[in-house]
Amino acid sequence: MPLLPILRFPDPRLKKLAEPVRNIDENIRRLARDMAETMYEAPGIGLAATQVDVHKRVIVIDISETRDQLFTLINPEIVESDGQQVCEEGCLSVPGIYDKVERAENVVVRYLDLEGQERTIEADGLLAVCLQHEIDHLNGKVFVEHLSQLKQMRIKAKLAKQAKITA
Ligand code: ZN
Repeated sequence: MPLLPILRFPDPRLKKLAEPVRNIDENIRRLARDMAETMYEAPGIGLAATQVDVHKRVIVIDISETRDQLFTLINPEIVESDGQQVCEEGCLSVPGIYDKVERAENVVVRYLDLEGQERTIEADGLLAVCLQHEIDHLNGKVFVEHLSQLKQMRIKAKLAKQAKITA
């Protein structure tokens, strides 16, 4: 199965707002499978459909060391959040860049699973960070946009240089 190409910041398509999934059909299930494969291969701990240029509200996450605890969340929505934590984040769309971002410590996320069943997940720590990071993608936001303008300029310059070297 082909891996899906991942958009790189500051690609303007990363700014698109993803649409809710109305029908969990074979296309959505295939998308979720391809996204999971792409995430494992990258390797990463989370991937949003936006990053593979599909503007639907689908994310996959696996923060386990053993890489066998896949979560697929459709139409995820943060329904509660509290506390704060600062964690160093990275992103498959911003290769080689890591920086500290402040997020909620605890979140409750409501979503649909691949069978269309409504579920909620309560998360803290890394899983909470990852959920907020991926849901941000669906809303057109990349983690570096939480950083200062100066840092964002430096990151863009660094990525442009990388792109030139690999081109
Ligand atoms: Zn990301």
